[in-house]
This record gives sequence, structure tokens and C-alpha cells, in this order.
Amino acid sequence: ESPKLIIGNWKMNGLRAGTHQLMCEIVQRARGLPADVRLVVCPPFTQIERAGRILRARGVGQSIVVGGQDCHMSACGAHTGDISAEMLADVGARYVVLGHSERRQAHGETDALIRLKVRAAMSVGLVPVVCIGETMHERQEGRAASVLASQIDGSLTSDFDGILAYEPIWAIGSGVTPSRDELERTLYLLGGLLRSRLKKDDIRVPILYGGSVTPDQAHAILSIRSIGGVLVGNASLDAQRFMQIAEAA
Ligand code: 13P
Repeated sequence: ESPKLIIGNWKMNGLRAGTHQLMCEIVQRARGLPADVRLVVCPPFTQIERAGRILRARGVGQSIVVGGQDCHMSACGAHTGDISAEMLADVGARYVVLGHSERRQAHGETDALIRLKVRAAMSVGLVPVVCIGETMHERQEGRAASVLASQIDGSLTSDFDGILAYEPIWAIGSGVTPSRDELERTLYLLGGLLRSRLKKDDIRVPILYGGSVTPDQAHAILSIRSIGGVLVGNASLDAQRFMQIAEAA
């Protein structure tokens, strides 16, 4: 079995002092990690280099790595305020979260744009973590499966080599999560959609779950055989909670 990925998305949180403290606490607890777990910490752009430096200095730079929360689709140029994939790689990032619902909603990101970002990330060797997920309204109308299908078709390239994160929007920050049964069914559905999008049977795209993941239900989620790991928001800002989730893998 491939290692489980536990990705922490700090969102817009993290000043210098807090980053230092949180990273040091994560490192202290790193010895308790199961061998088949890989941690990815995604601080805001301004703290990526600092976070990565702490990991490497403490000798845990293999099992714990850093990533970005977004990148631009272009390699460089006149894009005020934007950050390229190469800039992320240059400061030590190995992964990049793309198409998070908060960016789709607050910045109008479309599937087509996300696909260009995926291409940009892959071209510099960053592992793209593409987020998809339905709204509560779409779920209630029974449209979740078709929404997920069109997000997969639209935001992944046909040679996609990365990670898919299923983050139902109604579960993000709400304290509500899908039942284990429901999640298993959705993972099965997503596996089929990936196989048809990538036109091959032996896909190696791990599928993560994200949305209100806490230490309490981490084991139930991570024990699902077909799950590749979890994408953690709020609980990743607390070293104890984040590491408890990782230890449950
Ligand atoms: P929460 O874990 O805070 O619900 O956030 C999930 C998320 O959006 C991770 O990308």
C-alpha cells in the first residue's frame, strides 16, 4: 500500500513566531509517526521557506515536507501579486493545493483555470493537490455526482499525475462530515471518474478527504481502504490535533 498523506492547509494563518512554534511542535511529535505516513504542511506563501528550513534543520525533511496553497498558471511575467509554481519550488515546496473551494468561490477560479495551474505545477515538478467538492445545495438536489464528474473532467489534465482531494463544501469548517458509508461510496465513484478521465485502469492518483477532519473521527476516515489520506484545515493549526490525526493513519 502507498503511504497515507496528511496535508495541513493553514489557509490565511501564520505569522513568523507562530509558524516557528507550530513547526517545532510538529517536529517534536514526529517520532510518533507511523512509517507509512507522509506529512505535508501548507503555510501561507510568506512562511513556506521558514517552515521548510525548520524541517530540514531538524532532520525530518524526508517524512515532512512543505507545499503552497495556490500558484499562478503562468511561469512568470506581469502578474502583480501572483506567485508562480517555480517560485514555490524555489523556496522548497514539493506540493501545491489547487482549486480549493475558497479560491473557486472568492476568486472565481474555474475548472479551465485550475487545469492550467495543474500543468504549471507539474512542469516544475510540484505535486498538484486538486480540490473538488459539491455544495450543500447541489447535494440536496442530487447533483453531487455530476458536479464531481465535471470538476474532474475540467480541472485535471489527461496526463494528470498528482492527488485528488474530495472536499464537500458543506463539510468545510462546519463540523459536519459525510458518514463512513457515504464517503466510501463517493471514493468509489471518484475512482471510476478518474479512470475514465485519465483513460487507464491502473490509476495511481491518491484520493484524499477534506472537511472538518478532527482527531475524533480521523481513524474512522483513515481506515477506509481506498482513502489516500486527509486534507486538514482548522485542526492543522494545532500541533497536537494535527499529529493525533497523523498518528491515526
Ligand atoms: P477544515 O478542516 O477547517 O474544515 O477545512 C478543510 C479544508 O478546507 C482543507 O483544505
